[in-house]
Amino acid sequence: MGLHQRTACLQCSALAPPLGDSGFLGFPSLAAEAPGDETMPTFGFLYAGLEAISLLPYNVVRFRDWLGEHSGHRITTLWDLDDSDTWSDTSPADIEQLYALLESEGPEELDAYALAKARAIEDGTLVVRRYCAICSCGAQWTSAEPEPIRPFNNHLLPWPKLQLFAFRWARDPNEWWQNSLMDCTDIFEAFMAQLPGFLISHHRHNIEVRLL
Ligand SMILES: [Zn+2]
Ligand SMILES: [Zn+2]
Repeated sequence: MGLHQRTACLQCSALAPPLGDSGFLGFPSLAAEAPGDETMPTFGFLYAGLEAISLLPYNVVRFRDWLGEHSGHRITTLWDLDDSDTWSDTSPADIEQLYALLESEGPEELDAYALAKARAIEDGTLVVRRYCAICSCGAQWTSAEPEPIRPFNNHLLPWPKLQLFAFRWARDPNEWWQNSLMDCTDIFEAFMAQLPGFLISHHRHNIEVRLL
């Protein structure tokens, strides 16, 4: 088993849907306040950045919905399944509960995630497209592959929204605030690594976002 993380609700004994390749994005909370200097940002803080520019891939939205369903419950993230020493804020009983949850997760649960995605594509809640930011000067920056994403109409990105995303996501990818995100939110891939810089460098022009 490699390094990966899963989030769970200890109150409901429920695993969160996998985020990326069994990774995590910030502290598992929808609270959107800014982190302190030494603190990991919350999921809600980072999600608001994605929402500001309408870059909402399926697995991120699904995780947001799950956190909403378990709002006010005792949520924890297993930071590293190989090394229980790295789990924070979890008692031995919690750890036992988490292991039991992981062991009980069978193909039915994983099929259910795939089925929910297929349904969302069918009913139009999701579309399989590439995300594109295109500037009035002709420059554009487009995600690598079509993927399931929340649909939106073409629109200009006003500065407050552009800034909200760019400053929240222009973070050192090697710092401990995310792991194993995939596709357009994979911060080790060119698209996401350079998106904040692209938007900032064209912010005096008019940038429109669209799905291709
Ligand atoms: Zn719960
Ligand atoms: Zn430009």
